[in-house]
Amino acid sequence: MAKPCATCGDLLGRGYPSCQGCAEVVDRPLRAEWADLPTQDPALVADAPPGEYRWTCVDWAVRQLRCQGCGGELAAGAPQCVGCAAADAARWEVPALTSNEHALRTAMVVLRAPSWRRESVASTWRLVLPFVLTGAVVPPVELREIRTQVLAGRYDELAALEALPLTVPLLPWRRSTVQRELDP
Ligand SMILES: [Zn+2]
Ligand SMILES: [Zn+2]
Repeated sequence: MAKPCATCGDLLGRGYPSCQGCAEVVDRPLRAEWADLPTQDPALVADAPPGEYRWTCVDWAVRQLRCQGCGGELAAGAPQCVGCAAADAARWEVPALTSNEHALRTAMVVLRAPSWRRESVASTWRLVLPFVLTGAVVPPVELREIRTQVLAGRYDELAALEALPLTVPLLPWRRSTVQRELDP
């Protein structure tokens, strides 16, 4: 079950990456596997052929490097930076092994570079991350539904829910608005 973060009070993970308490838990698997490497050299790991290191180590390595193009965190710097885009594309050549790991990784990548995407996409991953941390897998159709509700201005209501599925009932006035829009 998703628990509140002792630092920010939100569900654990939702403050990622700015809340230290959330970041600590979200980053834990990456930190742990990095610590197990015989040589902890970010440039070496980031440039290694796909398959040599786990995605956790690749992502942790990339994160410790600065982009020479924009000066930001590599693969999370300026939205139009070619160097960041290339590094981001390269990391996905090392896939996550499970759907849950893939979701965790996607949430991290999106939330570390929120300006790369539409706000509703970042909000959707922010909403589901606490549940991903407890092992949940959120199928694409469910992610789309959450995003639709975010676009409808329901973020705060969705954020108040403590379990999946994240869905709030359509307000009556909204329903009638939709109805009116459908009428010729
Ligand atoms: Zn927190
Ligand atoms: Zn860059």
